[in-house]
Amino acid sequence: MLHTSYIELSEQAFKNNIKYMREHLTNGARYSMVIKGNAYGHGIETMIPLAEKYGVDHFSVFSVSEAMRAKTVVSPQCDIMIMGWIDKPEIEWAILNDVSFYVFTFDRLTAACKTARRLKKKARIHLELETGMHRTGFSENELERLIRHIRRYRNNLEIEGICTHYAGAESINNYNRIRQQIKVFNVTARRLSGEGILPRYRHTACSAAVLRYPETIMDLVRVGIANYGFWPSDELRMNHFIDSEKKGVPPMDPLDRVLSWKSTVMSVNFVGAGEYISYGTTYLTNRDTTIATVPVGYGYGYTRTLSNMGHVLLHGKRVRVVGSVNMNMLVIDVSDVKKPKIGDEVVLIGSQGDLKISVSSFGDMTNSLNYELLTRLPSHIPREVVD
Ligand SMILES: *Cc1c(COP(=O)(O)O)cnc(C)c1O
Repeated sequence: MLHTSYIELSEQAFKNNIKYMREHLTNGARYSMVIKGNAYGHGIETMIPLAEKYGVDHFSVFSVSEAMRAKTVVSPQCDIMIMGWIDKPEIEWAILNDVSFYVFTFDRLTAACKTARRLKKKARIHLELETGMHRTGFSENELERLIRHIRRYRNNLEIEGICTHYAGAESINNYNRIRQQIKVFNVTARRLSGEGILPRYRHTACSAAVLRYPETIMDLVRVGIANYGFWPSDELRMNHFIDSEKKGVPPMDPLDRVLSWKSTVMSVNFVGAGEYISYGTTYLTNRDTTIATVPVGYGYGYTRTLSNMGHVLLHGKRVRVVGSVNMNMLVIDVSDVKKPKIGDEVVLIGSQGDLKISVSSFGDMTNSLNYELLTRLPSHIPREVVD
């Protein structure tokens, strides 16, 4: 094996997740799969062909560089939408390549109009509305000017969408805020349509909104984390179980994890009792110990916070990470494993035998979210689709 670890992506899990999410689109809304953050760590180039196989034909990215990567693998009939970063020089690339992009400032709007006029080709844009998240978007008091601008450049623009993003639809803490955002969005959408601005797509929903606020589904949804088999929050998972029980069906998790992360035992050593393991003095053996090294460290996305805390699976058993996680290696205590040897499979995330290490439990231990851990998995680790 050339690389020190590898990622496996389960086709069946993905197929299942996408089917579950689509079941919520009873009005026929279009499904956009969010593949920002290297497809939440799963790999843009690997996930797009897999998604296309199951009928996905719209992909949302954050930046123009992600859009360029997506373009290298995507079929020509699919759409790509940039939700965040695009600088003026790349606007030309986007227009020429039929990539649509968010517009949330007059600066970008002007650049889009001028570039489109020069190229004699319409820019496909999505107007982002500020509805209460207070991050990006045109606010209420900018609407007059926005409408004037759009009228002036109507031959150079295709207003493909109007959109907004909710400030945390996965948490009950934000309930009132989300309700207010929905209201503001609908009022603004009506006002724009009154002015003759009728985009093809009104779109606001992320995974959590699709699951808990069906009225946000509108004409297109932007689903990210759920495709990969994660709930946007534990609250939503619990809600799902409670709903199932009310309907008298067993509380089963409808989402399956797509990603597993695996490596291999690199060396096995014996250490007497009373010795320190790895750098420094954070771990002292209290018995004769068999240790193994695994060639994955914080330089590969295995966070240092898991020093003396993490667990991995070896021979179907849960074993502890001992000592500090190094840049390229971690050490595990394999004393309770029968005949550990070089080349044995080590599961960092995923299942082995009956046991499972989930990113969530990894996340609880390190106090960071699924989203963050996944996107930190380096893009150079090879990714392979398995059944
Ligand atoms: C990330 C993102 C999404 C998808 O969110 P999930 O919670 O992963 O479904 C949708 N819209 C925008 C604007 C985003 O940035």
